[in-house]
Amino acid sequence: MAGPDYQAKSTDRSNIVTILAAEGVQFLLSGEEKVPLSSCDGKTTCLFFSANWCRTCKTFIPKLVQVYDMLSTRCEKMEIVFVSFDHNENEFAEHFKCMPWLAAPFDVNLSRRLSKRYHVKHLPSLIPLKSDGTSIEEDLVGLIEDYGAEAFPFTRSRREELKAADTAKLEGGKLEDLLAHKGRSHLIAMDGRKVVVSELVGKTIGIYFGAHWCPPCHSFTAQLLEVYNELTTSEEEQSFEIIFVSTDRDLEEFDMSLKGMPWLAIPYLDKTRHDLCRIFDIKGIPSLVMIGGEGKPISTNGKGIISLYGAKAFPFTESKLRDLEAVLRKEGDALPRQVNDIKHEHLLKLDMAKAYLCDSCKKRGRFWAFSCDVCDYDLHPCCIEETS
Ligand SMILES: [Zn+2]
Ligand SMILES: [Zn+2]
Repeated sequence: MAGPDYQAKSTDRSNIVTILAAEGVQFLLSGEEKVPLSSCDGKTTCLFFSANWCRTCKTFIPKLVQVYDMLSTRCEKMEIVFVSFDHNENEFAEHFKCMPWLAAPFDVNLSRRLSKRYHVKHLPSLIPLKSDGTSIEEDLVGLIEDYGAEAFPFTRSRREELKAADTAKLEGGKLEDLLAHKGRSHLIAMDGRKVVVSELVGKTIGIYFGAHWCPPCHSFTAQLLEVYNELTTSEEEQSFEIIFVSTDRDLEEFDMSLKGMPWLAIPYLDKTRHDLCRIFDIKGIPSLVMIGGEGKPISTNGKGIISLYGAKAFPFTESKLRDLEAVLRKEGDALPRQVNDIKHEHLLKLDMAKAYLCDSCKKRGRFWAFSCDVCDYDLHPCCIEETS
């Protein structure tokens, strides 16, 4: 057990209470009350480095308060000690008001020494210490944002356990594990329907991450609606479903999002929304993850596929996409590289376009087009009238 890692940390191996006492700290603050250092005895204590002027701190603290309250309700042995990077005592007092945990009295030098000791690189930073004062993990801020109170007791093995559970959900092929949990087995729809997740087994599913406040989501929802209507009124009716995962800011916005959607959704107040964003590593919206009939993800670029091919790409598998590309290539091979059209003065070249408007019939087109290099002019291949 006594490897080099142990050796390196051995200088830190004293009780957190002793460490604070050695730094000249005689008491801690709980609200406006003074409490003894021994308040941390026998608890997993986290040092919370933060400042009132730090915007990231301000968005993080409400999440941390939730976690702290939840762990207190569960009677977990955990304490947080705020170490201030505020400019002065007044700002410290103002900042500490929003924290239900303890604080070290305001002391710029103390903050500096503690942040050096625990290698604090940025704010906010939450460093968990074992009761013997050694740091058990790196900064916890990311872990708390990802997993909330589930991250307790903040050890490396807990972190690995949580990651493994995510991987199992992602790759396990069980829709119930991915989309439901012990407390909820159904999904909801705008019209009040509830659909049990097990009914979706075997279907191709699009998990749609979006929000009402996001204009690109509105136009993507419109595209997705076309595809959905096409796929659910044809023979594929029984084999395709979309599930909306909202990143709306509140329930009211969520209801507005849902209004235009004929498909299913994860209830707004359910933590699965947050879990799915994390599991699929969603960095921006709109985003569409395709789950195949086996219950496993087949593409994280559902948005690109839908925009390019629409319902034609069903069931969105790699082999289907390869087939589509082959058909397109064949179509292109049968067309001339360039043409002179009687309607336009410049030479038109064969080109692949995601979407365009034909300047002759004024209808939309996609894929092959004859386009002008000189001006913005496009024609459908079928709208070409070659000059003789
Ligand atoms: Zn046309
Ligand atoms: Zn032209």
